[in-house]
Amino acid sequence: MGYIGCHLSVTNGYEAMAKTMLSLGGNTFAFFTRNPRGGKSKDIIPEDAESMTMLAKEKGFGPLVAHGSYTMNLCSANIDTRTKGFDMLQKDIKRMEYFPGNFYNFHPGSHTGQGTKAGIEMIANSLNQVISPDIQTIVLLETMAGKGSEVGGCFEELREIIDRVECKERIGVCFDTCHTWDSGYDLVNDLDGVLTHFDRVIGLDRLFAVHLNDSKNGCGSHKDRHEKLGQGEIGMEAMKRIVQHPVLSGLPFILETPNEMDGYQKEIEIVKRWFD
Ligand code: FE
Ligand code: FE
Ligand code: ZN
Repeated sequence: MGYIGCHLSVTNGYEAMAKTMLSLGGNTFAFFTRNPRGGKSKDIIPEDAESMTMLAKEKGFGPLVAHGSYTMNLCSANIDTRTKGFDMLQKDIKRMEYFPGNFYNFHPGSHTGQGTKAGIEMIANSLNQVISPDIQTIVLLETMAGKGSEVGGCFEELREIIDRVECKERIGVCFDTCHTWDSGYDLVNDLDGVLTHFDRVIGLDRLFAVHLNDSKNGCGSHKDRHEKLGQGEIGMEAMKRIVQHPVLSGLPFILETPNEMDGYQKEIEIVKRWFD
């Protein structure tokens, strides 16, 4: 039994997203906690959040993987950007309490010239102010492509952040296949090796979700351009091996491929066949 879904828009509310996912054939989904380009997030209607939670439970959904805003940068050299980022993080974590037991994934940030070490410290400091044993969400750092001054383009950097987070039981990693490939991990020829390396550096017990994306570019390109399953440089065979790999197979797989709803429906169908 596996979990597959895609990114959905929260426009019509939370229960509506779960219904949309049912119609697409999936059993998990991701959503932006706010407008992906930043800005104000709609207030959550508690009844709507509750209906969604009940429906998801009734239909046997896996954990949901909320996504923090792309504009949130906890380690920018610009103090306004950094402060705004922290404000978003704080509000997002609070908002997630309407959906207890799910995941909140975000991009660690870009150090914008301050150096990786400084970036790591800033990210961890912010996390330590919002993560506590009281929250019911596990916060996930996303593996990044290593574009520009991104922090998290290798497993070691994520480990450095996790090492500094005090509340270890609420922190984990979301493995984005496009990003890890772009950052130089060869998922096509050495999936076992990459996962063994992940286990050695971070620990597979910290791996909670997968973003299942093909990539428009080659391994080590540091580009971060997602592609439809099987139409990119990773390819269908490797995608299948990822979904069927014993250490990944029970995790929620989230498609962030360039698709409309019909495209997502097709990809969900493909992945479900791989589950059997
Ligand atoms: Fe992401
Ligand atoms: Fe992703
Ligand atoms: Zn990406």
